[in-house]
Amino acid sequence: MAEQWIYLDGQYVTKEKATVSVFDHGFLYGDGIFEGIRIYNGNIFKCKEHLDRLYDSAKSIMLDIPLTYDEMREAMAETIRRNDMRNGYIRLIVSRGPGNLGLDPRRCPKASVIIIVEQLAIYPEAAYLNGLRAVSVSQRRNIPDALNPKIKSLNYLNNILVKIQSNLAEADEAVMLNAQGYVTEGSGDNIFVIKKGVVYTPPCYLGALEGITRLAIIELCEKLGIPLKEEPFTLHDLYIADEVFFTGTAAEVIACREIDGRIIGEGHAGPVTLKLLEEFRRIVDQDGYKVWES
Ligand code: PMP
Repeated sequence: MAEQWIYLDGQYVTKEKATVSVFDHGFLYGDGIFEGIRIYNGNIFKCKEHLDRLYDSAKSIMLDIPLTYDEMREAMAETIRRNDMRNGYIRLIVSRGPGNLGLDPRRCPKASVIIIVEQLAIYPEAAYLNGLRAVSVSQRRNIPDALNPKIKSLNYLNNILVKIQSNLAEADEAVMLNAQGYVTEGSGDNIFVIKKGVVYTPPCYLGALEGITRLAIIELCEKLGIPLKEEPFTLHDLYIADEVFFTGTAAEVIACREIDGRIIGEGHAGPVTLKLLEEFRRIVDQDGYKVWES
């Protein structure tokens, strides 16, 4: 197998040499941010939107990224080229960097930047037709006053605990509610419901990441003339929906066939979900930043 090259603080190193300090505050405290991005046919899908979100997350947690926006994009493009990658997944990580065992980020003089590109383990194609089984979980989404879910921080324990709960229920995905009981998102995906031809998704202020795939779906609905509303809704609205789907960089647009034992719609991917998936897959190698010339 060809060598995997990883960008680590300005160097391109092999997987074995890509190690970080045990004093890195990303490791010690989840103090840092990240992005998950897809490359389709040499196109970094929605590159600008992902970099905007990365730099916004950094600003929010007062983390100085030691690369300019253009340098970051170029480092990402070069990592892709060095790995001869046309289709795959890109993980950008910016941690607070090495410090001491104390919490104080002033002891971390320089943030660390890591870029990993890899093949993606995605759901089998049949899952896009059959849909996922999801459960709602008791663990609530981090409240925005404590750690805003709009920040794509390295602190994913909230999501991991949710994943553990859905694993225990032998489900494929989790539905996370906020402290008021409104639906927010999946463990690592945004959520949409369709009722009587209208598409609904929760506003992100309820406690959800402003997903780039979510944004792409909102844009596609507009383009296709499908009515879409950003509105709060509860589990009841999910149970009685005609269709439910999740969106995310890795999962793209994937239907949900069952939630908490209730069969959604016909019990498999519905027509609006499949139409949006089809249209989404049509734009993924167009809308973004082309790494390769042809
Ligand atoms: N919510 C959470 C908690 C996520 O981690 C992600 C990314 N995997 C998403 C939503 C979807 O965001 P995107 O479409 O930008 O991948």
